[in-house]
Amino acid sequence: MSHLLEIKDLHVTYRGDEAKVYAVNGLDLTLDSGQTLGLVGETGAGKTTTALSIMRLLPERIGIIEKGQITLDGYDITQASDADMRVLRGSLVSMIFQDPMTSLNPIRRVGEQVAEVLELHQKNLSKEDIDKKVDEIFQLVGLPVERKIEYPHQFSGGMRQRIVIAIALACQPKLLLADEPTTALDVTIQAQVLDLMQELKEKLDTATILITHDLGVVAETCDQVAIMYAGEIIEIGTAEDIFEGKDHHPYTTGLFGSIPDLSKKERRLHPIEGMMPDPTNLPSGCKFHTRCPHATAICQQQEPPFIKNGTQGICCHLFADAAGNRGSQEDK
Ligand code: SF4
Repeated sequence: MSHLLEIKDLHVTYRGDEAKVYAVNGLDLTLDSGQTLGLVGETGAGKTTTALSIMRLLPERIGIIEKGQITLDGYDITQASDADMRVLRGSLVSMIFQDPMTSLNPIRRVGEQVAEVLELHQKNLSKEDIDKKVDEIFQLVGLPVERKIEYPHQFSGGMRQRIVIAIALACQPKLLLADEPTTALDVTIQAQVLDLMQELKEKLDTATILITHDLGVVAETCDQVAIMYAGEIIEIGTAEDIFEGKDHHPYTTGLFGSIPDLSKKERRLHPIEGMMPDPTNLPSGCKFHTRCPHATAICQQQEPPFIKNGTQGICCHLFADAAGNRGSQEDK
């Protein structure tokens, strides 16, 4: 069975005046209809660059897909023309950004902004059909229809994010990319927006990539989780693998050590020591070796293998013996 989204060996760089930034370095990923994947990692891990590559919205002449393939619903995104991408964006894939105010036009009524997407992508619809659809979409995302004539500044942060979701879902895309969609919202509104996204996923069977650094949000909403570090996926699995499994990449273990656990009487958190490596000058071997408490000589010299075990995959020398067979972190 072919996947809705298939990314193979994706390499993306940004060209600066002085140096090249290696933002995504050999990323492989698949996603099926209706699945929600949480893409987790620190700032600079390459999460947003991955999403912008799928949308083909990397900054012109600066962000370059150097290598690899992105196939979405049978379309080769890396080879599609700009004209094709304008059609595919909105109808096949949409993106929600962190701050709703940056996505909305402050001087246009919100109903018109939803209608504009329909006019662009569904040219056979009459004015009446579009009005009817706008009303349906407002109801779907829990916005009072009578408020469609208002402007973005007249809405609260949570309501504005609902409008952005309405715009993103207007043409029922098969894939939704949500980049920190709740970070700018307070906790109560955050829960409402996440519930809404969950409800819409069930109604419309939309696949979602949720970009976040918040493992709590991932636990609540995602069925697949990919952990990114320095432009690579270093661990991937079902939510159960990541949250309940005993074997983890040392970076994943570090991420979990950085969040408070109310069931334990710990006085201090255990943040990951050190900083993300300089993306213009990435370390050899395992890119995490400068921060990893388990690093050995081989980690500095050789890139770690990606070891699969059922639904989980971990990219680390700790899990491979000399024959490349899988070991357990507990055996080490
Ligand atoms: Fe640590 Fe080595 Fe595994 Fe990298 S490959 S995470 S340095 S043990």
